[in-house]
Amino acid sequence: MSDELHKFLFEGLPVRGMLVRLTDSWREVLRRREGSEPFPTPVRQLLGEMAAAGVLMQANIKFNGAVILQIMGDGPVKLAVAEVQPDLAFRTTAKVVGDVPATDNGHLPLEVLVNVGGKGRCAITLDPKDRLPGQQPYQGVVPLHGDQREPLQALSQVLEHYMLQSEQLDTKLILAADDDIAAGLLIQRLPLEGEGNLGTRNEDEIGLSEHYNRIAHLASTLTREELLGLDVDTILRRLFWEEDLRRFEPLKDLTAPRFACTCSRERVAGMLRNLGREEIDSIIAEQGQVDIGCDFCGLHYHFDPVDVGEVFTDEVDHAPGSTRLQ
Ligand SMILES: [Zn+2]
Repeated sequence: MSDELHKFLFEGLPVRGMLVRLTDSWREVLRRREGSEPFPTPVRQLLGEMAAAGVLMQANIKFNGAVILQIMGDGPVKLAVAEVQPDLAFRTTAKVVGDVPATDNGHLPLEVLVNVGGKGRCAITLDPKDRLPGQQPYQGVVPLHGDQREPLQALSQVLEHYMLQSEQLDTKLILAADDDIAAGLLIQRLPLEGEGNLGTRNEDEIGLSEHYNRIAHLASTLTREELLGLDVDTILRRLFWEEDLRRFEPLKDLTAPRFACTCSRERVAGMLRNLGREEIDSIIAEQGQVDIGCDFCGLHYHFDPVDVGEVFTDEVDHAPGSTRLQ
């Protein structure tokens, strides 16, 4: 089974849903990591959930730019990132310092992984593709605790909180990942016609939110094993067999979510220029070359003294698409 994303509506009701399964792409992410220290199992699970969630959010808002999820804190995981482009190409990585505690089932709550001191945060950034000079990306930040300061233990809870706070959209998310698949189910209540995003909350009175509540409840009965192990048809039939579901053409094969990294030799060269000639020369003096590895895809970029010379003398000649005669 390859990567796929399915969208569906509940006929006549202000509720929509989406289900993603990252398989080949997710295994590719983990395979890329084999050359360096592999992430501990609970970190792989968190990154898989972030990748699935990031793809769902990008597909949901269809943003013309990158959707970037970041979780930062003071546990062994200092930072975890998932970045998803408009064509659903995604990449993900984490910065892990120190020991991740052992666990029987491979799972650890956010409180242990990233939010030990209670100051962990989740940032959702929308970075427009053609950003104008000086234009800042849009960023929303939510803490890793709920309204009563209770720590949130699952990424899904944090993102549900974010969607409600920043988009005023009731959302149910079920996320899970192992070493073969990263998957997610999203159920969202659509704003009513003319209601606007701020939503006057009178739907309870007219009985409309009961549909969303019922469907969200059905979704929440989906177990981790079912989400990871069952195909999409079976999952949707099991959960929603009493509902009138309208499904759309799934995104698969060429339109499916996929792994891709946006790093390039040119970008790394730009980074070296930012560090400055002096800094780079001292690395050359010490190590004979500069070796920069990409944390997302594991690719290594090597610059020997001749390359470095070119990086710093070709400053006018590094525009994208420019060619240089040897
Ligand atoms: Zn890369």
